[in-house]
Amino acid sequence: MVRFPVADRFRIATLALILFAGGCSSAPAVREPANLSLLKKELREYAESGRYERDIEAVAARADVWLRERAGRGGEKLTMVFDLDETLLSNLPHMTTLDFGYVPPEWDRWVEAASAPPIEPVRRLYRTARDLGIDVVFLTGRLEKGREGTERNLRAIGCADYLALICRPDDLRGPVAAFKAGIRRQLIEQQGRTLIANIGDQESDLAGGFAERVFKLPNPFYISE
Ligand SMILES: [Mg+2]
Repeated sequence: MVRFPVADRFRIATLALILFAGGCSSAPAVREPANLSLLKKELREYAESGRYERDIEAVAARADVWLRERAGRGGEKLTMVFDLDETLLSNLPHMTTLDFGYVPPEWDRWVEAASAPPIEPVRRLYRTARDLGIDVVFLTGRLEKGREGTERNLRAIGCADYLALICRPDDLRGPVAAFKAGIRRQLIEQQGRTLIANIGDQESDLAGGFAERVFKLPNPFYISE
């Protein structure tokens, strides 16, 4: 039998303890997804604290500077494209009523009710564009069947002097980004418009080009692809 000196025995015992402890801690850690209730709480705080509006204001201010500068340089049929939901129109009252859920028949009723309040910094931006003589095209993922309610909503918030409201065809399938980019391309190539700016809250509002500048607003509430 091999006998170790006392000092070596101490070192061996220490090493065994380290290996044992290491073995215990190597069990995979449980990594659960973020908690839904906590995320909803964070969203409410973002909206209610004023941070959401301040973030929107910062983007709208940059767009305002660009519009004034660009309008001064002139061009053919200067046009700005605006998205609607969470860009000019706020659906927060609807979302919070449903605890951030999405129920299609409830959404249709909300559109029909035409009572979405304006997002003020973007309404001011709309006014700036019109005062500068820039045409406005609303390009929305809202379906054609919601057009009448949407038009009433736009009149109710004082944003009725627009060039066109382009809704998504009721039977259109496929990504929103491709639909929106296709429309912007038509505005340029078929109508000879100069799209100087495009503002929206979703990447799918802005992807694909066909605008001199894009302005991305925050929206941590939902995603449309
Ligand atoms: Mg939107």
